[in-house]
Amino acid sequence: MVDCPHIRGRSILNQDGDESKAIQPEKVVVEDPPPEPDYPRYRVKPGTSVSLVAIDPEETEHYRKKKDVARELEKQRRRIQALQERLYAENERGMLIVLQAMDTGGKDGTIKHVFGGVNPQGCRVSSFKAPSAEEANHDFLWRYHKSAPAKGRIVIFNRSHYEDVLVVRVKNLVPEDIWRERYELINDFERGLTANGITVLKFFLHISKEEQKKRLESRLDDPDKRWKFSSNDVKERAFWDAYQQAFGDALGNCSTEHAPWYVVPANKKWYRNLVVARTIADILEAMDPRYPPAEEGLEKVRIPD
Ligand code: AMP
Ligand code: MG
Repeated sequence: MVDCPHIRGRSILNQDGDESKAIQPEKVVVEDPPPEPDYPRYRVKPGTSVSLVAIDPEETEHYRKKKDVARELEKQRRRIQALQERLYAENERGMLIVLQAMDTGGKDGTIKHVFGGVNPQGCRVSSFKAPSAEEANHDFLWRYHKSAPAKGRIVIFNRSHYEDVLVVRVKNLVPEDIWRERYELINDFERGLTANGITVLKFFLHISKEEQKKRLESRLDDPDKRWKFSSNDVKERAFWDAYQQAFGDALGNCSTEHAPWYVVPANKKWYRNLVVARTIADILEAMDPRYPPAEEGLEKVRIPD
């Protein structure tokens, strides 16, 4: 039996070492007891192609308003906070959370609302912009690998190594044979992290083109949001279809058993927050991090005056 790096007492490979039957981390909690609702349905099945037009960004299940999910979201945030503390104390495994979206898709808002209460000791956000000269002089994964989580840590990638098959592809920054090979390089990179005890989770926050227009307009209209407005976002919007295609291919090629992609309906911010929070909490729970054993003989210890 192959030792599982990130689920205590379980193997991500079956006894024959067959990867195709690998246990999916969240399934462990989905089976027993079955949580409601079933967010693993947003998980992209490995080896399938993804057509984003077929996925409704307006989806909110039976919820209608933000207040319908307020208590539920708070519950999930608290679960994450408690489990993160145990993960940190255990100091054996880590978690990498990748956030990708079209411009205005809500990466910043998700970080704020899902992780707002997590102890900053043990949790870090890494944001990636266009590479610096030094970064561009290295292999494309270099800067991401440097930011990967250490044992006990959660790291959130606000944009990620996927930009190197997204903007790079859409804007023709490297030739096709180079970016095409990157899907496999990315899968290998993520497998390497997993083998070292890092659980990798990837969320694509899926908004519609109309929703992006609304959000760009509200950034223009609201003086407190104007700082967020970038004329570049308007230029990028012209490439909407090419980006959707590039995202579909990246999700299809790189959703693996060891590092799944989730497509999160994200037109409603409150629903997006709930899905992301719940998924992270369920997977942390499946990892079952434990406080390390205390030193022996503590009952005899007396603290001197
Ligand atoms: P923002 O997240 O709005 O501050 O924008 C960051 C910008 O950096 C976006 O326009 C990204 O497309 C761009 N960017 C991020 N990673 C890369 C990359 N690897 N190559 C080129 N551009 C990138
Ligand atoms: Mg931007």
